[in-house]
Amino acid sequence: MKYLLNLIFPKVCEACNLALSDNEVLLCTSCRHHLPITNYHFENEEAVKKILYGRVKLENASALLHFSKKGIVQQILHNLKYRGHEEISSFFGKWLGSELATLNNYKDIDVIVPVPLYKTKLRSRGYNQVTKFGQEIAKALNADFNDSVLIKTKSTTTQVFKGRYKRWTDDGAIFNISEKESLAGKHILLVDDIITSGSTIESCARVLLNINNIKLSVATMAIAD
Ligand SMILES: [Zn+2]
Repeated sequence: MKYLLNLIFPKVCEACNLALSDNEVLLCTSCRHHLPITNYHFENEEAVKKILYGRVKLENASALLHFSKKGIVQQILHNLKYRGHEEISSFFGKWLGSELATLNNYKDIDVIVPVPLYKTKLRSRGYNQVTKFGQEIAKALNADFNDSVLIKTKSTTTQVFKGRYKRWTDDGAIFNISEKESLAGKHILLVDDIITSGSTIESCARVLLNINNIKLSVATMAIAD
């Protein structure tokens, strides 16, 4: 059946749309080699922290790929968010998870928390594009995955049109936390698909940091830097 479907709808590369050969998964060999890998978690943790410097206190921060407008990462994330290709989330999660698992900085992570979607967005998309990414990282780090602690309480579809300052002051109130107690004293890894201005991460971090005695780190699929 799978073979038959492949004949009718040949699997194509998530970045360039060329047909994949039998041994290629999600990306063709050429696009895979051209992915703009940051290696920040190995070489320059400060690069991601810099975006949030002076706004939230982080232990560790990394992003797997550089994001640029019209680049292949934008194409891949578009397929993940708007075309239902959720397997991209697992793919990046397994990849980054296996790398973070080799680093001492990430050994004491207790729980992975994804940036949540607003409930109507979640319903219309059918999935949070960060869930599988977070679940795979949790597996790799032997940590828990908790997508009920952080709740988005307001939709923010028009936020992109506002300036940076306005955006984060507005965002300040749109995330909430439940079950504070169970996470007290834990090292939380907050995960998202992309860091741009850092305002979403900052808003989430601000509410999470209300939990007693927690340590906070961040990992994303991509960063626009
Ligand atoms: Zn390709």
